[in-house]
Amino acid sequence: APAEDILSLNNVEVIFNDVILVLRGMSMAARRGQITALLGANGAGKSTTLKAIAGLLHTEDGAITRGSVSYEGEDITRMSPDQKVCNGIFLVMEGRGIVQDMTITENLRLGAFTRPKANIREEIEQVYEFFPRLRERSGLAGYLSGGEQQMLAIGRALMAKPKLILMDEPSMGLSPLLVKEVFGIIRRLNRELGISILLVEQNANMALKAADYGYIMENGKIVLDGTGAELADNEDVKEFYLGGG
Ligand code: ATP
Repeated sequence: APAEDILSLNNVEVIFNDVILVLRGMSMAARRGQITALLGANGAGKSTTLKAIAGLLHTEDGAITRGSVSYEGEDITRMSPDQKVCNGIFLVMEGRGIVQDMTITENLRLGAFTRPKANIREEIEQVYEFFPRLRERSGLAGYLSGGEQQMLAIGRALMAKPKLILMDEPSMGLSPLLVKEVFGIIRRLNRELGISILLVEQNANMALKAADYGYIMENGKIVLDGTGAELADNEDVKEFYLGGG
């Protein structure tokens, strides 16, 4: 049977400061248990899409003015960001959003903020089992390398027991070797922990290899979609996103 949608956007329109239309009828879905990639040029509206899903637009005077977001069959368009985290949606941001002058363990604790009754100590141990490198490092998060910070950002997401992780440009600022490692981690989150993933990337090559399904976004809406393999084989995608293929 085909995988069901865990998340869908139906004709979503987002406006900033009452005037700038950034999403213009955005429709897409993420399937349960799969990796879905959202690709597009700078400024296409990828980050805005993730913020719209996570409920974080109001902090920048943006708003969903039309359309809807549904998650596990429920309309969550106007649900609060905290409530979305409680329901299993976690955004790992570009720049990672780590608190630099807190320790690794303190950052991990922050990830469990919606779950005060959880056995935090045991769950931190599980994150360290998943990312042994984080256990070896002590001290402040600000001293971690870019790749380690990315692991910490993902580890913190795991502390919220997510069903769906939204990832904004996980390869940003990382060396090719670390990009490979981070994509390996994303696959493990999906295969070993069963977490559904919606991945926004500039690195179309890596993203399409990892993704079960992908969408290409231009000017605030989807212009093309298909399996990772179909998109990687598409002439337009090759020319515009895979670098002169
Ligand atoms: P990038 O890869 O560069 O982050 P993106 O596809 O993620 O690009 P967005 O960051 O979603 O694109 O931005 C889409 C458009 O919305 C851009 O034209 C941007 O200038 C505009 N935009 C984003 N945030 C705001 C804001 N707070 N106020 C006004 N315009 C905004």
